[in-house]
Amino acid sequence: MVNIKDNFEKILEIASKSAEKSGRKLEEIIILGASKTQPVEKLIKAYEAGLRYFGENRVQEAIEKIEKLKEYSDIHWHLIGGLQTNKAKYAVKYFELIHSLDRKPLADELNKRAKKINKVQNVLIEVNIGEEDTKYGVHPDNLKELFEYALNSENLKILGLMCIPPYSENKENSRPYFAKLRELKQKLESEFRVNLPHLSMGMSNDFNIAIEEGATIVRIGTLLFGERNY
Ligand SMILES: *Cc1c(COP(=O)(O)O)cnc(C)c1O
Repeated sequence: MVNIKDNFEKILEIASKSAEKSGRKLEEIIILGASKTQPVEKLIKAYEAGLRYFGENRVQEAIEKIEKLKEYSDIHWHLIGGLQTNKAKYAVKYFELIHSLDRKPLADELNKRAKKINKVQNVLIEVNIGEEDTKYGVHPDNLKELFEYALNSENLKILGLMCIPPYSENKENSRPYFAKLRELKQKLESEFRVNLPHLSMGMSNDFNIAIEEGATIVRIGTLLFGERNY
């Protein structure tokens, strides 16, 4: 049996130490529960343990959970999975922050749908930091162009960058990718004279490294909720 409360406390402890290493406090880090495929009962357990940020991957699955958990009105719902353009309408309706903007047509659609409901949609740009064929995310070489494009979209607000580094058994291998994402963010901030508060990076196996390298949002699934049942 997974004990979500114990898991959450262990995660907070690790996050706190890593935050300290990077000269920050635990309160400056958002622990996001990556809850894809997990039943709402487990989400409630995590909520009761103190978790307030949940990240879902699929829009349809998320909507069902959001509707079921309506009474938990202080939950922050984020979309962390790749987004199909034809789901943009629903994504804008349901999510406070979308982590996976990675192409211009999606920016157009999100902007249009947000405008329709008078919302400014918070987004992160997902960067394919390992330049892998199989991954979502904009290629680092095309980041500046997409960033400028989204910056000029009135109903989008870019809050930062997100990445999923190539999988590795050794979590230290993630460190240079996390550092690279931080550098890309800093470069955009100075080139466009904007403030980008967020770096969404780090998962169950490497979130401590991500925090050391400047993550402000870590997305934790298995370590919090236990194995997923696909
Ligand atoms: C599933 C998922 C996570 C969490 O993965 P774990 O290894 O289970 O912590 C984080 N980010 C994204 C985008 C995911 O799809």
